[in-house]
Amino acid sequence: MLVLQGTPFCNIACDYCYLPGRDDKRRMDHDTVGAAIEFLYREGLAGDTLDMVWHAGEPLALPRAWYERAFATAAAAAPHGVRLQHCVQTNATLIDAEWCDFFLSHDVRVGVSLDGPARLHDARRRTRRGVGTHAAAMKGVRALRRHGVPFHAICVVTREALDSADDVVDFFLAEGVGDVGFNIEEVEGINCTSSLAAGADTPVRFARFLDRVLERAEASGQLTVREERNLRDMLQSSDFGQLPGNDQNTPFSIVTVARDGTLSTFSPELAGLSHPRLGSFALGNVKSATLAGILADPRWVALSEEVAEGVRACAARCPYFRLCLGGAPSNKLAELGTAAGTETLFCRLTQVAVAEVVLPRLEARLKAATHPV
Ligand code: SF4
Repeated sequence: MLVLQGTPFCNIACDYCYLPGRDDKRRMDHDTVGAAIEFLYREGLAGDTLDMVWHAGEPLALPRAWYERAFATAAAAAPHGVRLQHCVQTNATLIDAEWCDFFLSHDVRVGVSLDGPARLHDARRRTRRGVGTHAAAMKGVRALRRHGVPFHAICVVTREALDSADDVVDFFLAEGVGDVGFNIEEVEGINCTSSLAAGADTPVRFARFLDRVLERAEASGQLTVREERNLRDMLQSSDFGQLPGNDQNTPFSIVTVARDGTLSTFSPELAGLSHPRLGSFALGNVKSATLAGILADPRWVALSEEVAEGVRACAARCPYFRLCLGGAPSNKLAELGTAAGTETLFCRLTQVAVAEVVLPRLEARLKAATHPV
C-alpha cells in the first residue's frame, strides 16, 4: 500500500486529529508522485496491484485537475500491467456532483469520516471557528448516494458515543450507509489525549457499544460492520495462525510519502513525526533514496529492531496475537514511549474487546447452523 499526502492541509479542524501541519497549503509536486511509484517498483516493494491511498489533510482540498495529472503520472510511472487502485478517505464536506463523476470515472474507492448523528459528530468534527461539520458532510454523503458512488464510512468512537449505539445505528440506517468501520479516538501523533483513556470501565463500555451495534446491524440486514468482517476474514484465511505480523509492523508493507517526498513505513501516522529517542521517522526522499541506503541507516536499524521486538513480545505474551499480529507501532510509541511494548488502550479496544464481542457471536451462529433446533 502506498499512502500519499498530496497536501497536509485540511479545511476543517477536528479536535482529535493526529496530523501535524493541517494549516500548510503546499501541494506535492507531480514528479514526486511518479518518483514514489518508481521507488516502489525499482526496489521490488510492490506487486501487480497497488493500493494508492490519498490521505492528507483533506485530500479533496486539492482540485480535481491536480488528481487528473497525479493519476496520469502514476499510471505512466507504473510498470506495464500493474493495476493502480486509488482510494480516498475524506471528511465529505467538499464532495459535489463533479467529485462524484470523478470518483466513478476513475474507479476511486471512497471512505467518508462520519461520527454518526450531528450530536456526536459536531462535538468533535468542527471548523477552525468551532462550527460543526455534520450538515456539510451529509450534503457530500447524499451526493455520493444520488450519483451511485459506492462508499464506506469510518466512525470515530469517543467517550460520548459509548452509550449511544442505538442512535449511531439508527443514523447510519436512516442515511443508507451500509458499510461502517469503528475507529477509536486514539492517542497518536499530535493528539496526546483521548476521552477514552479516562475510566477503567472503557473496555467494558466499548464492548457493550460494539455488541449492540452488531446486534442491530444483524437484525437490520443492511449494515456491514468492518470489525466483524475483518475478524471473520482473518479466521477464514488460509494463512490464519501463520502470519508473523500485520501491515503496520511489517517493514515496507505500507509506504507513506509526505508532501515533500519524504518516505516512511510502518504506521502511516508516523509520517512527519519524530521521536526523542528514535529521531525522525522520515527514511529519505523518494527522488533519491535507495532501499539499500535505508537498510544501512542506523536510525532504520534502531526503529525496525524496536518494532520487531514489540511484535516478538506480543507473540510471546498475548493470547490475541493470532488475530492482532502484534499491534501498531504508532500507538505503542504514543502510549508506551516504545514500539517494543505490547498492550495499549488502542489494542485493548480494537483487538481484545472486538474479539471478545465478535467471537462469541460467530460461535453462536456456527452452532445454530450446525445444530438447527
Ligand atoms: S492485542 Fe495488544 S498485546 Fe495483543 S498482540 Fe495485539 S498489540 Fe500485542
